[in-house]
Amino acid sequence: NMGRVFCVGGNWKCNGTKASIAALCNDLQGDAVDAASCEVVCFPPFIYGTYARELLREDFQMGVQNCWIGKGGAFTGEISADMIVDVGFGWACLGHSERRHLPQIKESDETIATKTKYALDAGLKVMFCIGELLEEREAGLTNSVNERQLKALADIISDWSNVVIAYEPVWAIGTGKVATPDQAQETHAAIRDWLAKAVSTEVAESTRILYGGSVSASNCVELAKKPDIDGFLVGGASLKKDFLTIVDSYK
Ligand code: PEP
Repeated sequence: NMGRVFCVGGNWKCNGTKASIAALCNDLQGDAVDAASCEVVCFPPFIYGTYARELLREDFQMGVQNCWIGKGGAFTGEISADMIVDVGFGWACLGHSERRHLPQIKESDETIATKTKYALDAGLKVMFCIGELLEEREAGLTNSVNERQLKALADIISDWSNVVIAYEPVWAIGTGKVATPDQAQETHAAIRDWLAKAVSTEVAESTRILYGGSVSASNCVELAKKPDIDGFLVGGASLKKDFLTIVDSYK
């Protein structure tokens, strides 16, 4: 896998209470993760961020699930990338399918790319989520949708060193319908080929591509064996001790 460090994200979404987060952080205690081999990032809801940071093991990093598209100011209800850096969080997960597709949110490719560029410039690492809807897969549009979503970003950034791509087919998110290892590998390889053509061979070889969508303790090992799967973005299972089993699939 060309020296790409395995990476696992835990997207807690809009879930949790002080009590459940304390219990989860306790459940996630375990042997230290070898930082040279695996990077782990949890994404709590903003309001619990500082609380979760105090309770979560120190070798797991922390990020946010969204941020404003640019500099702060008169944008009521928003949180800027500079604020996220200021409180010591290193990551943002941007372009999640729920933010792209929920009718109340509907972020566009351009909005997501713009906020990603701003977040990168502010010093954050970004888990940049892409992926097709079921009807797009059925229409044979998987690669063209991924490429459209990536092109919006490729058009405005040149440094990919702090970008991790999370390929998350929308039909697999929260449905229990995980992509097969072959399906995921085929799409990851196509994404890497596109990066080689549209950006550079160096970026294609060095950029991590995570798989997300119904990853569990029982399917992670087979997925992790695939050469172009460099880790996972985990939703439901990131709220359970199973997250540790998924982290360990790098071994
Ligand atoms: C996600 O929300 O990023 C995700 C992959 O969810 P789940 O693991 O629950 O399918």
